[in-house]
Amino acid sequence: MFCICMASYSANINANSVSGQWHKFQETIMGTSTSVELFTETREKAERCSQLVFADMRRIDSLMSPYIKDSELFQINKLAGTQPVKISAELFLLIQRSIKFSELTDGAFDITFASIGYLYNYRENKRPSESQVNKLLSAIDYRNIILDPLQQSISFSHKNTKIDLGGIAKGHAVDKAIERLKGCHVENALVSAGGDTRILGDKNGRPWMMGIRHPRDKQKIVVSLPLKNDAISTSGDYERYFIENNKRYHHIIQPSTGKPASQSWSVSVLAKDSLTSDALSTALFIMGTEKAMKLINSLKHTEAIVINNSGKMFYSHGLTSPALTPPKLH
Ligand code: ADP
Ligand code: MG
Repeated sequence: MFCICMASYSANINANSVSGQWHKFQETIMGTSTSVELFTETREKAERCSQLVFADMRRIDSLMSPYIKDSELFQINKLAGTQPVKISAELFLLIQRSIKFSELTDGAFDITFASIGYLYNYRENKRPSESQVNKLLSAIDYRNIILDPLQQSISFSHKNTKIDLGGIAKGHAVDKAIERLKGCHVENALVSAGGDTRILGDKNGRPWMMGIRHPRDKQKIVVSLPLKNDAISTSGDYERYFIENNKRYHHIIQPSTGKPASQSWSVSVLAKDSLTSDALSTALFIMGTEKAMKLINSLKHTEAIVINNSGKMFYSHGLTSPALTPPKLH
């Protein structure tokens, strides 16, 4: 259960306001805006610790980017359809975790979406033709991924299968960042990478207020949640998309059709770690409200807010404070 009741604001304001200051740093990494806000005794420490975080994010990007030609992911997509490819322990583990999320979400989360996903280009308004989708659809299936733990290698049982970790890598990077900050003896911080945010500790003894954006109006926040020590991720159809003939083509792909999922506008997930909230927000977005709520309500330490494709908001069972009466978005 999350700290979502207004009564729990009884703040210990002195907790960490004694000797130190908040510092904020921002960089563009993994194709998105990443930031670290941290409370430290000195500016020098804040800079040193945030640089460790950004260096690690760049390292993860160079392993997992589908665009960097010598990334491990690029090599996998080039070779694993025809031969096993040895990979790093970190990538192996992340692919294993991805497959677990595929099993948990009945195939909604599936990193092999990329078998067709790579044919979309949202900047250039490009999408695959019907015949390309039909031809490649069987390449999308997480069961086409064969992991060999002894060799620490990966291969695909379908020659056209490709993978992409865009639905989980940022969450993983944010979790790593929090580990780095703990190792740097930071006790209170907030790390964000695109739609994924994780909080370490709190904000001067109070929760951070995390706003969820209106999916059709950038300027509006539809609800704010008080969070401490939690992760929150939002998946929406408004970040990367183009419109053609009144139809929105966005970046979250329904594995069963190879086309953008159409049941939701936005899904936010709260969890204890960012990897979980990242993967689940993508999956729940695809699953649609009913299946999404059923799943999230069956999991411990996770909550969700779904905004469906007519702008109606739904809260999971743990988010039932009267302060959170669902607003009407129209
Ligand atoms: P963002 O990348 O904006 O934070 P999400 O966390 O919702 O947004 O992830 C969307 C990304 O997930 C897409 O850009 C793509 O890389 C990847 N993705 C799309 N469809 C799927 C899917 N069915 N399963 C797993 N990952 C997906
Ligand atoms: Mg996600």
